[in-house]
Amino acid sequence: MHIGFLGLGNMGGPMARNLLKAGHQLTVFDLSAAAVSGLVEAGAKEATSPAAVAQADVDVIITMLPAAPHVKQVYLGEDGLLAHVSAGVLLIDSSTIDPLSAREVASAAAHNGNPMLDAPVSGGTGGAAAGTLTFMVGGSEADFQTAQPILATMGKNIVHCGGSGNGQVAKVANNLLLGISMIGAAEAMSLGVALGMEPEVLAGVINSSSGRCWSSEIYNPFPGVVETSPASRGYSGGFGTDLMLKDLGLASEAAKQVRQPVILGALAQQLYQAFSLQGHGGLDFSAIIKLYRQEDQA
Ligand code: NAD
Repeated sequence: MHIGFLGLGNMGGPMARNLLKAGHQLTVFDLSAAAVSGLVEAGAKEATSPAAVAQADVDVIITMLPAAPHVKQVYLGEDGLLAHVSAGVLLIDSSTIDPLSAREVASAAAHNGNPMLDAPVSGGTGGAAAGTLTFMVGGSEADFQTAQPILATMGKNIVHCGGSGNGQVAKVANNLLLGISMIGAAEAMSLGVALGMEPEVLAGVINSSSGRCWSSEIYNPFPGVVETSPASRGYSGGFGTDLMLKDLGLASEAAKQVRQPVILGALAQQLYQAFSLQGHGGLDFSAIIKLYRQEDQA
């Protein structure tokens, strides 16, 4: 297939490389010349604008952009995709944005005669490079079936979540729970250790008891408990506090639009916000445990 790909950053770059490896022809665009040249070296063709991607006789266009304003600009702007793309070309947005913006762009695409899917991912940069991402997809069943084999070259779990915007709904709900559960794991681990338990023993008990969750088992925030977790390498790499903050912002924004309370989500957002303000926005989000412990302890 001939695929247009816009947004070649930490996630989009390796995702586009996996499409090339699978034998697809790629035409790419990014505002960063360095990001584009990396992909051109790997065999992609360069386009100089979203309009040029749209006019390159592509079958499918995938976008992986930072946030909703970028997505709206790239799809709806004067020099954007919808103003130039042929009817029938399938559009897939994998950026993490709020569900209502996703539905707004998909509805404009439908007016233009273009099927569109929202397909945000989880799995991080490691999953993007390894081609093991989870895709949470919103849109029609028929469009999902068309996209499935393409997404399968970049991910291993491709889930149809329902109609337009529902991929973003799933992503927002999952990351809301993740943000909250990490703070719970940090609080429980800090309390147990302050009361005299060895962190490994405490984590072992929690992980075979009813408190067990992904944040306690796979990604425990206490240093040294899980060898492969960011906590055991100074909270470097992983999923940045500021990215978690962005996703909790999306959750609270979406919640406001449907008048749904997100009480613990709001509290979690404020804790990550305070932590980021202390200069820790670039650390993995599990470093939130530092709020509970003295600097020399964690
Ligand atoms: P990034 O900032 O590394 O990459 C974004 C890319 O988009 C950059 O190369 C930037 O130059 C480009 N860009 C911005 N505006 C553009 C425009 N108008 N036209 C063309 N290109 C433009 O971000 P990322 O880490 O790759 O994340 C992308 C999306 O994936 C975000 O929505 C993020 O929330 C989501 N996400 C990230 C992770 C992660 O671990 N990094 C995990 C899951 C989901």
